[in-house]
Amino acid sequence: MKKLALHWQILLGMAAGILFGVLASQMGWAEFVKDWIKPFGTIFINSLKLIAIPLIVASLIKGVTDLKDISKLSQMGGRTIVIYIATTVLAIVIGLLIVNLIGPGRGLDASTRDSLLNDYAADAGARITAASAQRESGPLQALVDLVPENIVGAASNNGNMLQVIFFVICFGIGLILIDPKKAQPVKDFFDGVNEVVLKLIDLIMIAAPYGVFALLAALVVEAPSTDLFLALFYYSLCVLAGLAIMIFIVYPTLVKVFAGRGPAFFFRGISPAQLLAFSTSSSAATLPVTMERVEEHLGVDEEVTSFVLPIGATINMDGTSLYQAVAAVFIAQAYGMDLSLMTQLGIITTALAASIGSAAVPGAGMVMLVIVLGQAGIPEAGLALIFAVDRPLDMCRTVANVTGDATVAMIVAKSVDKLNDPEERRLDDHYVAA
Ligand code: ASP
Repeated sequence: MKKLALHWQILLGMAAGILFGVLASQMGWAEFVKDWIKPFGTIFINSLKLIAIPLIVASLIKGVTDLKDISKLSQMGGRTIVIYIATTVLAIVIGLLIVNLIGPGRGLDASTRDSLLNDYAADAGARITAASAQRESGPLQALVDLVPENIVGAASNNGNMLQVIFFVICFGIGLILIDPKKAQPVKDFFDGVNEVVLKLIDLIMIAAPYGVFALLAALVVEAPSTDLFLALFYYSLCVLAGLAIMIFIVYPTLVKVFAGRGPAFFFRGISPAQLLAFSTSSSAATLPVTMERVEEHLGVDEEVTSFVLPIGATINMDGTSLYQAVAAVFIAQAYGMDLSLMTQLGIITTALAASIGSAAVPGAGMVMLVIVLGQAGIPEAGLALIFAVDRPLDMCRTVANVTGDATVAMIVAKSVDKLNDPEERRLDDHYVAA
């Protein structure tokens, strides 16, 4: 019997979760969902996060040592960073164009604005406080933050993925430089760990349809019912239109032009990761699946995925930066401010930096938006205006973030001749039928 392709299984799980959530809300089963269904969603997300650090460590060590030649690493690194920045800037520009064209904040009437500011003032305040640590840091803080003082600390609870990546790359370089006889057992060990971790991802993915069911059911019953939702319709539309342009036009075009692969191939390969990004709102939690899909289904060599994707999940957030640009201009419009061209150009730089600085977890983009608002002279309390719709938009921008990472992985792979011919690849048939 043919098994349903993974993305269909996940989609079914998502649809069933949403339907069940709606039914549960109507029937007054919200508590039941919170107590008995939501925990399974949390377990699913935790298991994905659990696997992320071992996967990064094992695959990156394998990736770096397979490179043999360190200069290749810097060549790949340079290209990765340049393309990441270019796609992010493009996303911000698209966002700015749309929000200026549609002007969603200009149509927001004063009473709606005041009730939004009032209802979500406390939530906005919490985000502003959370952002204050970032604001006070000096210009070289990002560089200082790259080097951990303790690797276990860096890899621990809510650890800093960039620090782990930094350490692992150094470790891999050390491994290339020492006596090959001594290096071999270490490499073999991490090779083995890598295989085990990839197998565990396969196993976790068997639970994916049930995991997303639980996540979405819980999200629906916990969603704040708000009439103000409609007032934010045009703002949401701007963000969604921008994200759709990135996901359905920009990325497939880049993949076609720079990696020579068609959109059907691209989406068939990456869609399970996109659906998980949507369900979890976290690029970090989705990372193991993104890596598995890009490697096994899009034909990108492990040397590239192990390096490009963990860095991408941490610093490349096209969806987040686009959203930050749209949100900043929307809030300014709602306050009746006219942002000059110079200010809007400034938003390109701050949204770029803010998206790089955003953690790959739910809602992080909104915290960093505080910085963008501050630098553009827009009242930070205006964050309250967009709170009501942030979660659904977060789910969608995370899809763009993950798709952007996969796109860049393919382009970099092609440029260093590490993109395998899909026909020659054994498509993983653990759970893919077609
Ligand atoms: N949730 C997003 C991510 O993990 C970050 C954000 O925009 O809040 O990619």
